[in-house]
Amino acid sequence: MIYIDNHATTRVAPEVLAAMLPYFTEEYGNAASVNHAFGWRAAEAVERARAQVARLLNCPTEWIVFTSGATEANNLAIKGLRRMGLVTNAAEHPSVLDVAKRLKRQRVDVTILPVDRDARVDPQQVADAIKPETALVSVMLANNEVGTINPLTEIGHICRERGVLLHCDAVQAVGKIPVDLQQLPVDLLSLSAHKCHGPKGVGALIVRRDGPRIPLEPLFDGGGHEQHLRSGTLPVPLVVGFGVACELANDAVVSAQMATLRDRLWQRLQSELEGLSLNGPSLAERLPNNLNFSVAGVDGEALMSSLKEIAVSSGSACSTVEPEPSHVLRAMGVNDSLSRASLRFGLSRYTIEAEIDVAVAEVVRVVRQLRA
Ligand code: PMP
Repeated sequence: MIYIDNHATTRVAPEVLAAMLPYFTEEYGNAASVNHAFGWRAAEAVERARAQVARLLNCPTEWIVFTSGATEANNLAIKGLRRMGLVTNAAEHPSVLDVAKRLKRQRVDVTILPVDRDARVDPQQVADAIKPETALVSVMLANNEVGTINPLTEIGHICRERGVLLHCDAVQAVGKIPVDLQQLPVDLLSLSAHKCHGPKGVGALIVRRDGPRIPLEPLFDGGGHEQHLRSGTLPVPLVVGFGVACELANDAVVSAQMATLRDRLWQRLQSELEGLSLNGPSLAERLPNNLNFSVAGVDGEALMSSLKEIAVSSGSACSTVEPEPSHVLRAMGVNDSLSRASLRFGLSRYTIEAEIDVAVAEVVRVVRQLRA
């Protein structure tokens, strides 16, 4: 089976695995142990990884708080400022949207903005939604279903003018488009290693520290690790893997190569099949590895269950426990039956042309069979 579902997760890069292995075997020290060389070497490895993450984002190492992944980073960013008003939008990942809904139930002032038919957030609507009680705006950099890239620079300038903080879930953007914190006016940024060929179970919240202090509170108490924002013994092997994954991630050549293959996939599918509609913005305006389209005249469930040769997603892989149509496609105005009959492809640095050709043949075979 060919894996083209890299928005859900990615394969660990061989370089990442090789770097991690010694920290499972000989170098098993606790990075917080200050009394012996096992601890010192583990701490050195963590700091090396921190520098690798910082280099990718062009920010100081002190801004990085390692977490268990982006779900935790998003929760920390939003709940960590919990008593304050929040503005977010309907196309966010559930690890932002469900936090927002919980806060709303707890009577925090929460606004969930609509998105346009390309899942894009309108900066003017953000500006209009900011009230005196608003403290935080949360907008993702790139959408995990349709690859939409939000106008974060514009939104960031609005937030700065209005004196509110901006959090950004950049999970899907890292390694696909440049994410430079000297340019991008965001205060808090979430990352996840497993979306860019690192291991599962590690990520980071980046906390800007060159402006007024961000009044962030930890989600839980403990040993005071990670500048008292994330207590708990660091998973040194995972952190090491995350660092190496970040070092591999900043490669414009790879992004261009993914875009070329993705464009080939879409062109070939369209030349073979009628009734395909692209979901989301034009290919040039989305993540280079994303393709999402609906297939008219077929049943969504039958479509997914008939695809035997390729691993792709319908809707969001993160929420396949719920058979509901994708909340993102719904927010974009795609009707439920077309949402259900949608396919999401996510290419990676390892995707090759031969796999794209197999994917085309498989989708064409299944759609023709279901339409017959
Ligand atoms: N945000 C986005 C946009 C995602 O795609 C995902 C993963 N599906 C997450 C957050 C959650 O990341 P993690 O798996 O690291 O908790």
